[in-house]
Order: sequence, then C-alpha cells, then structure tokens
Amino acid sequence: MSKSNNPLRLSVCICRNGVAVPRCHSPTPPKGVLSLPKRWWNALLNLLFPEPITCLLCNQPITLLDGEESPVICTLCSNSATFIHSPICQRCGRGMSSVGESACIDCSHVELPFEYSRSCVAYRGVVKDLILQLKFQSRQEFIAPLADWLYAAWIRYYADCSIDAVVAVPMSSGDERRRGFNQSRRLSEALCARTGLNGIDALVRKDTSGSQTSRNRHQRLKALRGAFALSQAVDESGGIVGRRLLLVDDVYTTGSTVCACAQVLLAGGASSVHVITVAR
Ligand SMILES: [Zn+2]
Ligand SMILES: [Zn+2]
Repeated sequence: MSKSNNPLRLSVCICRNGVAVPRCHSPTPPKGVLSLPKRWWNALLNLLFPEPITCLLCNQPITLLDGEESPVICTLCSNSATFIHSPICQRCGRGMSSVGESACIDCSHVELPFEYSRSCVAYRGVVKDLILQLKFQSRQEFIAPLADWLYAAWIRYYADCSIDAVVAVPMSSGDERRRGFNQSRRLSEALCARTGLNGIDALVRKDTSGSQTSRNRHQRLKALRGAFALSQAVDESGGIVGRRLLLVDDVYTTGSTVCACAQVLLAGGASSVHVITVAR
C-alpha cells in the first residue's frame, strides 16, 4: 500500500502560527521561513509527525515496542490463523479430529512418493487471504508473514531431520513472467536464509498444464502428468543424486503438485523427498 493511500495517515498542518492542527489542505512550506524544496518539506513533516504503522490486511494501527521491527500484519490478524496441532495425518500433515489413526481418509488409499508433508496453518481465513492476495494481486509484502509460518513449521518438524537441500515447486516460465515472481521460490529463499540450507533450482514446469484451482485430485494428477522435469543444469550435473531434498510450496491442497514434483526428483536420483508448505 502506498503511503499516500493510507487512510489512517496522521494529517497535520503547521502553517498556522507554527501550531500543529489537523491538516486541511496539502501543506506548503511557509515562504521566507523555510525555502526548502517540497520533497524536503514533506520529509521533515514525516519526521516530525510520522505516519502510524498499520496492518496491511485489516488497516488497524500497530503499536511497536522499543526496537521492535515493524510487522506486515497485526497480532490480531496473525493470531486469527488456525495453527495445525496434533493429532495430524502422519503422511500429509493435515490436522485430524481423532487420535489413533495415522493417515487421513485421503492418504489411506493412495501411495505418496514423498516421505511426508508438514504445514504450519490451515488454508482458510487470514491465511487464505494472504496467499490469494500474494498470488493474484502481487502483494509481495505478504511473503514475510507467510515465511514466518513456513519457518515455524520447519522448526517444529524438520529442525532435527537430515536435509541436504531445498527445492521450490516451479511455475511455468510463462506464468512466472506474468506474475513477476514465483511465490514458492520466494518462500524457499526465505527458508534457506533462516536455516542456512542450500536451495537448488532442480525443477522446471512446462507451459501446458493450466490452472489447477478448479480441478479435483484425479483431474489434477492427469493434467500434471509430464508437467514437471529436472532443470537442464541439475539433469546434466547429477546435482540431486543421493541427496535428501525438502520440497517447498505455499499450499498443500490435494497433494497432486508435490507428488508430481517428488516423482521427478526421485527419478532424478534424490534419495528422499520431504515436503513443507505454509498451509494445508
Ligand atoms: Zn490486522
Ligand atoms: Zn493425509
């Protein structure tokens, strides 16, 4: 959000006898007192009367403690996310209502190629809002709160797991060009920066599979057959042979995308593939 669009901006005018009053018009530097260029004058105003920091999701002001870094969303929004707690499906990481079953109904009758998948929060409410706005309105500032949740999942489920490298679920070059970024790669870069793990551009996605949003699992699997391949560099160098990989995506929906990616990675010689997503 640009600062000028901020509805909560503290507007003041100090043109009346030097006293701060609510700003009624765009302020002009008083002639003869300060002959500053307008941008310097505005910078001075912002210094004296800083704009309140507001949540980029609900627009409410955020109060910072001394030395605290400005968060992108407020505590209220952040806390409204549904965290996935035990019991979970041991395969796909979905939250389950009853203890005792190791796999959810979706996973109990399918063979998953990866070891297991884990996620931090449920894909609904504020989490869904953030992810949809990130992807379809290019709100790249939302990478930060999503990366926080991804890191929380890593701490909880993978900090003690032997992982050699991180691989992001790729977008087709056309889709990535249109969006301007790949959210999964951005999330995996944020995870690598915090964990010290290496990221590998191991996969590419062909331009033919189309949007998966409205398809069921069977249709997704069919559409994804052959959609992913090893990147040329990794294919030629054998860069993933014998390596334990962690595959990163923003959301685990039916699991068909990460399954298709994991199959390619394993066929390319990876010794194991685990999956981590922000939401499930
Ligand atoms: Zn908020
Ligand atoms: Zn499951």
